[in-house]
Amino acid sequence: MKGLAMLKIGEIGWIEKDKPKCGPSDAIIKPLAIAPCTSDVHTVWEGAIGQRHNMILGHEAVGIVNEVGREVKDFKPGDRVIVPAITPDWGSEAAQRGFPSHSGGALGGWKFSNFKDGVFGEYFHVNLADSNLALLPDKIPLEAAVMLPDMLSTGFMGAENAKIEIGFSVAVLGIGPVGLSSIAGAKLKGAGRIFGVGTRPKLIKIAKKYGATDIINYKKGNTSEQIMDATEGEGVDAVIVAGGGPDILIDALNIAKPGAKISNINYFGRGIGEGDIIPISRSGWGFGMAQKDIVTGLCPGGRLRMERLAQIVIHGRMDPSLMASHVFKGFDHLEKALLLMKDKPQDLIKPVVLLDG
Ligand code: NAD
Ligand code: ZN
Repeated sequence: MKGLAMLKIGEIGWIEKDKPKCGPSDAIIKPLAIAPCTSDVHTVWEGAIGQRHNMILGHEAVGIVNEVGREVKDFKPGDRVIVPAITPDWGSEAAQRGFPSHSGGALGGWKFSNFKDGVFGEYFHVNLADSNLALLPDKIPLEAAVMLPDMLSTGFMGAENAKIEIGFSVAVLGIGPVGLSSIAGAKLKGAGRIFGVGTRPKLIKIAKKYGATDIINYKKGNTSEQIMDATEGEGVDAVIVAGGGPDILIDALNIAKPGAKISNINYFGRGIGEGDIIPISRSGWGFGMAQKDIVTGLCPGGRLRMERLAQIVIHGRMDPSLMASHVFKGFDHLEKALLLMKDKPQDLIKPVVLLDG
């Protein structure tokens, strides 16, 4: 079978591999819609997780079940499914402690395009199908559904980890598809004022649709100064970091009120030659004592999470299809889609590739 792979750091290409084998509790899926992620860009072009050779990329997909193992009870060939980006080992020690995304070690629940072939192949393998697949409701169009495995799950986690309460003021730094989903998540959690920090007009329009009340242009002045001015020196009750380089936590800490959570969902991908240290501001952090907690998280995976996200879409709480800015038909467009994600033209939010079942 054919797949779009990371050949080595800095290089992608189409490769041929054997169709993956299905273990007793696993499934083999044929993708129906796939989307590249900024994380694929960090992985390939920044070498953020280290060297990988001929690893099929991608971790965002919905698909059709092609094969199931003999122990799989709830899915059968022909079922249309949502495949979470993160597919934990649910029996692991980390999962039992409440951190399934880190089963088998930090980030270990992230298997696709990390340490096994991802979803950019004609077929791909899913471990523990009964726990890691969810039925795709017919009502959800494919270009909306493919936002659930990672964009909605991660973006909403940003809002959940920020412990937003009704009426909170929230700042979302970075309004790519992850930050946009966080804005929607902050609204769902009951935020009052929501600052979206970004510059691109198309994204700003959607940020407002999803619930941003104020837009801050970080290119037209210092983010923290602008937000402190707008809040009369008070800062915000919660911060979600969904973009920016290594020094973004300086802004985040500066604008956080004492006691606020700084919920980081950014993948600090810049690795090569740029050091391993991320700065935080001493005074912004109250010299380490202002109870400004930096909380982090990897996208929640698993079946229940996907079923709950589907409820959000079915009942019209949020329309993720607005983020599908570039929709292509056919596997051959995948390389173009991934390169768009790398180059991020002004009007790009998220490319999606639809496939024949
Ligand atoms: P994106 O690049 O589309 O969006 C980030 C935006 O932030 C860009 O538009 C960029 O121009 C902007 N930006 C740059 N500097 C900024 C600054 N100083 N202030 C505000 N905005 C700034 O990326 P995305 O697809 O939305 O993903 C966001 C991040 O989340 C990426 O690092 C991605 O790898 C990561 N991610 C993490 C998880 C997770 O599980 N934690 C899952 C998916 C993606
Ligand atoms: Zn991702």
